[in-house]
Amino acid sequence: MKKNVRKAIIAGNWKMNKTRPEAKELIEAIKPLVADAGCEVVVCTPYTNLETAVEMTKGSNVRVGAENVHFEKSGAFTGEISADMLTEVGVQYVIIGHSERRQYFGETDETVNKRTKAALAAGLKPIVCVGELLWERECNITEEVVGRQIKLDFYDVSAEDVKKCVIAYEPVWAIGTGKTATADQAEEVCAFIRSKLADLYGDAAAQAVTIQYGGSMNAGNAAELLAKENIDGGLIGGASLKAPDFAEIVRAASKG
Ligand code: PEP
Repeated sequence: MKKNVRKAIIAGNWKMNKTRPEAKELIEAIKPLVADAGCEVVVCTPYTNLETAVEMTKGSNVRVGAENVHFEKSGAFTGEISADMLTEVGVQYVIIGHSERRQYFGETDETVNKRTKAALAAGLKPIVCVGELLWERECNITEEVVGRQIKLDFYDVSAEDVKKCVIAYEPVWAIGTGKTATADQAEEVCAFIRSKLADLYGDAAAQAVTIQYGGSMNAGNAAELLAKENIDGGLIGGASLKAPDFAEIVRAASKG
């Protein structure tokens, strides 16, 4: 299977940005700009905007994602949101294990694994984030770090289920820093992730998984990154908050 038969997905990660009126304005601006996209378009918004986003994107080609999900179905987990709560409002995607969750909120590969399985069980499509710190890259252990994350984050996930997942390779040093991995650096790790998936699940499953790059992807550098064989899309932070920039990335992904 080749890149051109995998689903290209451009997902915006709004992080902790946009009040409801601001979210409405951004979605209103994005919709017409991406209406004829040749790839899947997803906006992952703060919880408070999910219902609005689902309502506003009905009948359009824009899908809605959350930025996290808890792994238990219900119970005494103050401040958390379950997978069923997300599907109930019409959310289809969920970001899991973003480096900001790992860095600031104690997320571990074990909880990423639990969240991934809970999301899959509820019918959500997980966007599972992996990536190395700058120090780990400098120590030449990028493959060791990312390989370990893939093994642990997908522990006990079946080959059928892994095909429903999206993996976002996000070198931590490139997130929100303006430092993008070069297209060759990004391709090297995305190809490694696919080879690791092939070891764990076989070649057919590995070839079916959409692997995104994330880390300061923008309107200017997207085309070069997205032209690479193993980069099937992008997880976009800063540039997803500006409709014309986000739409330009969607256009680049549509060309592949
Ligand atoms: C992200 O938050 O997933 C991300 C890639 O952010 P940015 O595009 O701003 O680097």
